[in-house]
Amino acid sequence: MRIVLLGAPGSGKGTQAKRLQADRGWPQVSTGDLLRDAANAGTAMGLRARAAMNAGELVADEVVLGIIKDRLGFDDAGCGYVLDGFPRNLAQAEALDGVLAELGQTLDAAVLMDVPHELLMKRLTGRRTCSKTGRLLNIHFSPPEEIQACIDAGGELLQRDDDREETIHNRLEVYQRQTEPLIEYYRGRNLLSVVGADGSIDEVYAGLVDALDGLEIAGHAFP
Ligand code: AMP
Repeated sequence: MRIVLLGAPGSGKGTQAKRLQADRGWPQVSTGDLLRDAANAGTAMGLRARAAMNAGELVADEVVLGIIKDRLGFDDAGCGYVLDGFPRNLAQAEALDGVLAELGQTLDAAVLMDVPHELLMKRLTGRRTCSKTGRLLNIHFSPPEEIQACIDAGGELLQRDDDREETIHNRLEVYQRQTEPLIEYYRGRNLLSVVGADGSIDEVYAGLVDALDGLEIAGHAFP
């Protein structure tokens, strides 16, 4: 199945994409992760991308499209994938349609992960990664024993550079201005499903799976 996960920063796209990958075998294709990898590798493109990311701006379309075209050509993308964080504006959505047409593929669904604005702020400002285990934690929501387990393992709670408050405001504003119009874009193509994403990770996942299974029952045939 080929899915676009839509939703504001902090709506949980990455977390849910990872679960779909584990359960259904559709690889998570996160442009944010791919760009962070490029930035950490220190390539000229990666360093330019990092400047935009740290400012909460979108990275240039041609850079992101180059990355996504490469990634969708990998073998593991042959039987489906979950696009997490791409497309993020109308030009990217139209370019994705072009890439899919070239590959002889179609999109099966665009799922909007719907979360109230106040909750997004808490999720983003509280988000941390354990430096030892790589586990994603949230200082507002994670059980204290999970946070303690990271500290006991000698880990540090790392914050993403773009999860600082001033950058978060910009990311949310960029989302509203540039990415939200994609909701109507995919609704107009009859591909949109909306999933309430303000519950626990398990609750949101259950809603997501229901929405996807509902599409299958409605007659789509997915690998
Ligand atoms: P994410 O991990 O999806 O929150 O993305 C982190 C940052 O990477 C964003 O704030 C953008 O700066 C950049 N980014 C990720 N995906 C895209 C995209 N599709 N187009 C442009 N910039 C992107």
